[in-house]
Amino acid sequence: MLPFSERAIEFTDRQRRVHEAVGEICAEFDREYWRERDAAGEYPHAFVEALAEEGWLGVLVPEEYGGKGLDTAEAVVMMETIAASGAGFSGAQTIHAAVYNSAPLVAHGNDAMKEELLPRVASGDAWIQCFSLTEPKAGSESTAIETRARREGEEYVIDGEKLWTSRIDVSDYAVVAARTTPKSDVERKTEGISLFLVDLERAFDAGSIHLEEIEKTASNVVSSFRVRYDGLRVPADALIGEEDRGFYHVLDGLNEERLVITAECTGLGELAIERGAAYAGEREVFGRFIGSNQAVQHPLAAAYARVQAARQLVYAAAGRTDDDPKTIGTWANVAKYLASEACFEAADAAVQTHGGRGVAREYDVERYFREARLTRLVPITQELALNYVGENVLGLPRSF
Ligand SMILES: Cc1cc2nc3c(=O)[nH]c(=O)nc-3n(C[C@H](O)[C@H](O)[C@H](O)COP(=O)(O)OP(=O)(O)OC[C@H]3O[C@@H](n4cnc5c(N)ncnc54)[C@H](O)[C@@H]3O)c2cc1C
Repeated sequence: MLPFSERAIEFTDRQRRVHEAVGEICAEFDREYWRERDAAGEYPHAFVEALAEEGWLGVLVPEEYGGKGLDTAEAVVMMETIAASGAGFSGAQTIHAAVYNSAPLVAHGNDAMKEELLPRVASGDAWIQCFSLTEPKAGSESTAIETRARREGEEYVIDGEKLWTSRIDVSDYAVVAARTTPKSDVERKTEGISLFLVDLERAFDAGSIHLEEIEKTASNVVSSFRVRYDGLRVPADALIGEEDRGFYHVLDGLNEERLVITAECTGLGELAIERGAAYAGEREVFGRFIGSNQAVQHPLAAAYARVQAARQLVYAAAGRTDDDPKTIGTWANVAKYLASEACFEAADAAVQTHGGRGVAREYDVERYFREARLTRLVPITQELALNYVGENVLGLPRSF
């Protein structure tokens, strides 16, 4: 993290402890580690295991279930620290879902989920790294999902096709969204969707999950899949919360999750600027350091200013998660929009600063650029973030 950045946000004692503890673990995994994993398209098992062993996958799990009992204000520090350490956005994404999938279980899970599974999540023994919502015909319009779950006696049977389901290859459990009531039979399209906790080993053994990996150009340390659930049988008590209310259970924690992802973007922005500034201070052209040219300094400085502005919003919002959902939604969407743009600008400036080396893998900034581009698309697109502001803040008509 760049020197002024630490002072620009006044960390609470808890936040400082999180920053230091997570930073210490991250320091064991240098730039070469991430470069090699990215080039090989390998999940960083050693990194995730190091965090899991220290209980960080259970950062949001309450202490009564063995977790750290922290909340969004600390989770933003944790994920920003990871991204800024050199892991980047993709490094943060390797554990992001494990952190956030515990939220619906804490809020809506049954006793077994809370008392048996959450302590295993907190100790790093059970990974719930996978959230399977998006489908070929349902991305931004997530209520258009067609995957069905029908009740048969003491089981549900799940059938359907998902797209972009990430980390299903490294998870013990997945949270799967499916329609329990068809869209045509509900009053509001947000009704009729349910969430299921799927034991993946059992499901793979039964031959009811089929995977096809999607070749992609960003976040190579995480694999994403086209998934077919084919007569997947889960026990009735795999239902998380209430039947038909799953979409609302997701919405409960969505804004906080968005803030945490936003912190991953600001972490990536910091990282890119740091690398850009370091190179500008060592590369000599025409007998002087390129960083002494304002044409090189200014794009990095402007990106730095924008990253700091986005960070202010993230941290302010993360400390106020008891605001009403619409207000947090506004903070979260505005911050997400700004942070994605700022980290894209930062990564672009870092590439430009490196000249031709900007596209050479060994300098890393090309990876940051690919990841920064991705942040404009996930977990929601920039347009959808702006739609929220247009509709909920400016009072303009909904576009869909
Ligand atoms: C690397 C990666 C990992 C992912 N991991 C997961 C995962 O683990 N689990 C999961 O469930 N999903 C995952 N996703 C899916 C991700 O959430 C979706 O890609 C995202 O929500 C966008 O949906 P879409 O790709 O279908 O785009 P579409 O919804 O098809 O949108 C296409 C374009 O149209 C624009 N658009 C659409 N409607 C409007 C409108 N009303 N106003 C303005 N613009 C509009 C969009 O902004 C976008 O630019 C992942 C995606 C990627 C790329």
